[in-house]
Amino acid sequence: MSLRLAAEAEPTPDVSDDEVWLTCIACGAQFAPFEAVRFTCDNCDGLLEVRYADHPTFDDFEGHGVWRYSEALPFDKGVSLPEGATPLHEVPRLREEVGLRALRVKHEGMNPTGSFKDRGMTVGVKVAKRIGVDRLACASTGNTSAALAAYGARGGMETLVLLPEGKVAAGKVAQAALHGARILEVDGNFDDCLDRVQDLAARGEVYLLNSLNPFRLEGQKTIGLEILEECYADYGAFPDRIILPVGNAGNTSALFKAFRELVQAGALRPEEVPKLTGIQAAGAAPMVEAITEGNDEIRRWEEVETRATAIRIGNPVNAPKALPGIRETGGTAVSVNDDEITSAQRALAEEGVGVEPASACSIAGVRKLRKQNIIDADERVVCLTTGHLLKDPDEAYRAGGAPDAVPNDTEGILEHLAGD
Ligand SMILES: *Cc1c(COP(=O)(O)O)cnc(C)c1O
Ligand SMILES: [Zn+2]
Repeated sequence: MSLRLAAEAEPTPDVSDDEVWLTCIACGAQFAPFEAVRFTCDNCDGLLEVRYADHPTFDDFEGHGVWRYSEALPFDKGVSLPEGATPLHEVPRLREEVGLRALRVKHEGMNPTGSFKDRGMTVGVKVAKRIGVDRLACASTGNTSAALAAYGARGGMETLVLLPEGKVAAGKVAQAALHGARILEVDGNFDDCLDRVQDLAARGEVYLLNSLNPFRLEGQKTIGLEILEECYADYGAFPDRIILPVGNAGNTSALFKAFRELVQAGALRPEEVPKLTGIQAAGAAPMVEAITEGNDEIRRWEEVETRATAIRIGNPVNAPKALPGIRETGGTAVSVNDDEITSAQRALAEEGVGVEPASACSIAGVRKLRKQNIIDADERVVCLTTGHLLKDPDEAYRAGGAPDAVPNDTEGILEHLAGD
C-alpha cells in the first residue's frame, strides 16, 4: 500500500487570511477561496481541493451533526436544516448471512431531504452566499436537486436544476418542485445535464453546486468523521473497510480527504485508514472498469442504464480524486446488477432499514465481495446507504409486495387471510 497520506502539509500560500485556500490537484496552482466564483483551475481546468493550514484531531470536535466538525470545515456554520448525525444501524441478520466480524449500515437517507447531499449543500450554499451570487444550479440524478432546492430555499436564493428527462425518481422531483426550484428536463442523460450546467456556470449565469464544487465535498467529509467516531465509541476500533455506492465519486473523494487530514493531524495512523470500496451498477460502471484495468483515467460511458437511477452516471467527474482514494487505502471497486440491487434493498428492508436502490449497492457489494473472499470474515465493515426508501416509491413498490383487495367485512378478511 503506497499511502501518500502522511505527505507534508503544503506551506500556507499568500491567497487567504483565513488559513483556507484552494489548490488544483493537477498543477498545484493556489487560489483564494471566497473572492471569486471558480469551480476548476484557471490554468489547467483541473479539479480544485480545499486546503487548510491546520487539521483538527478528534478532541477538537464538539456539538452535533455536520457542524460538530467545523474545525475541519472552511467556516463555523453553514445554511443548516440541520444535517448529519445519521444512524449507524446494526444489521445482525445480514452480518450473519455474509459472515463478518462486524457489519454496520450508516443510513444517510436520514438527512433532512433524505440523502447525504445535504451535508455538502450546508457548506456549498453558504459559500455561494459569501461570494454573493444569487442563482444556484446543479445537474442531478435527483437527490442533488432535492437538496439544492431545500437549502437554496432556506438561504433565500433562486435555484435551477437540470434533470435527465424521465430518469429521475418521483420523490426527488417532487421535492425539487415543492421547495421551489425551477426544473429543466433535458433530453439527454445526467452527464449531458452536467455538461450544460457547466456551460451555464462558465458564462456566469449560475453558481454550480454539483460535487465538482470542492466545498460540497468538505461537508461530505463529515460522513467519514462520524463513522470513525461512532465505531470507535461502539467497539473501540475504527472500521477496516467502508463500502459505498459510486456515481460521480464525490463521496469516495470526500472520505479519502477526511482520512488524509486525520492522518496529517496525527489522529489516525495510515494503517488504520479504512479501505474505501466503491460499488457501481453494472450498467454504469466506468470507475470499476478503471480500477479493474488499472487505468489512471476514466473512459466515459455514453450509454448507461440501471434501476439505481441515482448512480446512472457514465462520466464520474471526481475520478481523479477518487481513484487514488480507492487504491491508496487498499480498497477495490466492483459492480452489481439490478437484480442484486433489488435483492439487497429487500434484505435491508427486512431489517427495518428502508433505502432507495442506489443505496442498496453497498449491501449487494458486501455480499459479492464476501463470496469472492475479497473481504475477510475478520473485517469490521461499514456500508453506506445514501438515500431514503421514499425517494423512489415506484421501485420500492415494485420490489415489495402489492396490496390484496379484500371485502369490507371482518369474516371476509379472515377468510382471505386463511386462504393463503
Ligand atoms: C448522489 C448519490 C450517489 C452517488 O454519490 P457520489 O458521491 O456521486 O459517488 C449515490 N447514491 C445516492 C442515493 C445519491 O443520491
Ligand atoms: Zn491546475
